[in-house]
Amino acid sequence: MVGRRLTLFALFGFPIRIDASWLLLAVLVVWSLGTGYFPVVVPGLPVWQYGIMGGVGLIGLASSLVAHELSHALVARHFRMRINGITLFIFGGVAELADEPPSARAEFLMAIAGPIASIIVAIVVHVTAAAIGGVAPVTIVAVLEYLAVINFILGVFNLIPAFPLDGGRCLRAGLWAWRRDMGWATKIAALTGQGLGLLLMAFGLYTVVTGSLIIGGWWAVMGLFVRKAAAQSARYHRMMHRPDLGSQGWGGPRDGGGSVQP
Ligand SMILES: [Zn+2]
Repeated sequence: MVGRRLTLFALFGFPIRIDASWLLLAVLVVWSLGTGYFPVVVPGLPVWQYGIMGGVGLIGLASSLVAHELSHALVARHFRMRINGITLFIFGGVAELADEPPSARAEFLMAIAGPIASIIVAIVVHVTAAAIGGVAPVTIVAVLEYLAVINFILGVFNLIPAFPLDGGRCLRAGLWAWRRDMGWATKIAALTGQGLGLLLMAFGLYTVVTGSLIIGGWWAVMGLFVRKAAAQSARYHRMMHRPDLGSQGWGGPRDGGGSVQP
């Protein structure tokens, strides 16, 4: 989230950007879809067709990530939180929140909107693929089925109760509502995020050792990212709530830090 960013267009008033690191993910996705996934799912096609399927799959993945983040952003806007924009980067997408949620309820609804949107997209795409299954070319059906699976994974993975994943935000909202202490809730939720970060790093290293350097490396760095984001959220929260800084609201940082909603 620190590299160069390119603004593509605006959607519902939110700037949609791609971070330079997204290009790495794009190459990884097209390559693994075109040389690994699609040749296994639909064998016997010419190589160029797998390349096109990989490219279309990537565009579908980008759209799925934007749909997920957009649902967060729309709910956030409903609760009058400022959103700096939606950015696609190497680990997916983030809606960049300029403000912390005003209430536990707002945080819960904003967080749960993403996984719900992804699971709905997964169901709609899956039903469409099944409906056109006998008629449409196998290539189109295969890409749709890939997108159904990826949206389902996007929805379910983000429900893991580890901050700052959506599930971790739901957990924080629950703890916040229970004890009416956002600081305490943030501290506990950040611990779960740091734990998940360690697990992902271990999984990544295991994957590197068992053969897949690039995929394993991606998971390991993802673990580092989750860990850092969790620690940062806790630090940011403490900073904003130090008594000597006053407590007049939630002015967030304009770039970097702050709060991300993956
Ligand atoms: Zn999300």
